[in-house]
Amino acid sequence: MSAPRSIPVLRPLLPHADRLLPYLRRIDATRTYSNWGPLVDELERRLETHFGLPMHGVVSAASGTAALVGAVLGIAGRAGRQRPLALIPAYTFAATALAVEQCGYRPYLVDVDPRTWQLDPARLLNQSGLNRVGLVVPVAPFGRPVPHDHWIGFRHRTGIPVAIDGGASFEGASDESRRFLGEIPTAFSFHATKSFATGEGGCVTTTDAGTSKRITQALNFGFFEIRDCQSPSTNGKMSEYHAAVGLAELEGWTEKRAALRSVAESYRARLSTAGLADRFIGAPDVAGCYALFHGADAAEAARAQESLDRSHVEYRLWYGKGLLSQSYFSDLEHDALDVTNEMAPRIIGLPVAPDLSAEAIDAVVSALCGGVAQRR
Ligand SMILES: *Cc1c(COP(=O)(O)O)cnc(C)c1O
Repeated sequence: MSAPRSIPVLRPLLPHADRLLPYLRRIDATRTYSNWGPLVDELERRLETHFGLPMHGVVSAASGTAALVGAVLGIAGRAGRQRPLALIPAYTFAATALAVEQCGYRPYLVDVDPRTWQLDPARLLNQSGLNRVGLVVPVAPFGRPVPHDHWIGFRHRTGIPVAIDGGASFEGASDESRRFLGEIPTAFSFHATKSFATGEGGCVTTTDAGTSKRITQALNFGFFEIRDCQSPSTNGKMSEYHAAVGLAELEGWTEKRAALRSVAESYRARLSTAGLADRFIGAPDVAGCYALFHGADAAEAARAQESLDRSHVEYRLWYGKGLLSQSYFSDLEHDALDVTNEMAPRIIGLPVAPDLSAEAIDAVVSALCGGVAQRR
């Protein structure tokens, strides 16, 4: 007998080949494959309409990480000697720290707010050593978008540049773009695992035309209009092929988003029947690509994981136990990280797919009940 098939933690579903073909034929016809060609241009303009942003309010990028590098270089440049530090949350994906490091900053880890899981701008105003800080990167954890105006205030008060790692917050930012998008550049990831996906890809949003130009330049060898490298930069451009996927993804976006939302509703309904409603965090509170089990404490979360293992249900601690627990980042400077340390082991990513079956959701929920019930 073969081993029981496991339920994968994430099974992305991107547009099928037939949906891509009309766009690929356009690439054949124009023989333009990159460098802000017609498909990238169309995707950017459509995303501007989608978000309600002005012309050039969206700059596409090769990945979310590249988008963040472009945003940082565009507003703050590389780190200088006087202000070598970048404040970032301890609870985020490795890419946040890697992107600021690529721009020459030394990441300094700050704890997150227990309610929002984000950096708290009011608290950061009283952070000691701000005179050595050249950059702050608030993160949208699990796609919970970052409110813009608090950070505008922080920037005015301190003069410190802010770039937002919007990660997976495409849905939240779409729904309330006035609240979540503005002048401060916000980087989005379109990685295959994110709700809105192009395979690899991303974009930066900003309402400021000068910032948009500098980010575009930072993602294209420091060139802008002329072939002269004028600024610290990288190659972080999106190709026409990825834009093709993005355009097809936009066509089917309403349905995909609804499918992810209904997966969250199914989890919610079943966990509620099981008396575990308060342990679930899903869309629309977080992005639809995440369905999170929030253990009452670390012990309950550990029992839930053992039970998921026994039932062949895959799960993932998407941000591990925080950045400091990643080998490469283990000696970063940091504040006290009580919230991150207490919270990270309790947040378990459950299986998600736009077409996740009712049976699969039942299997996940009964595994969780098995794990949690042991103590009751
Ligand atoms: C996905 C993600 C990234 C990285 O994006 P890539 O497109 O994989 O480079 C960075 N930060 C956050 C918060 C993310 O969720």
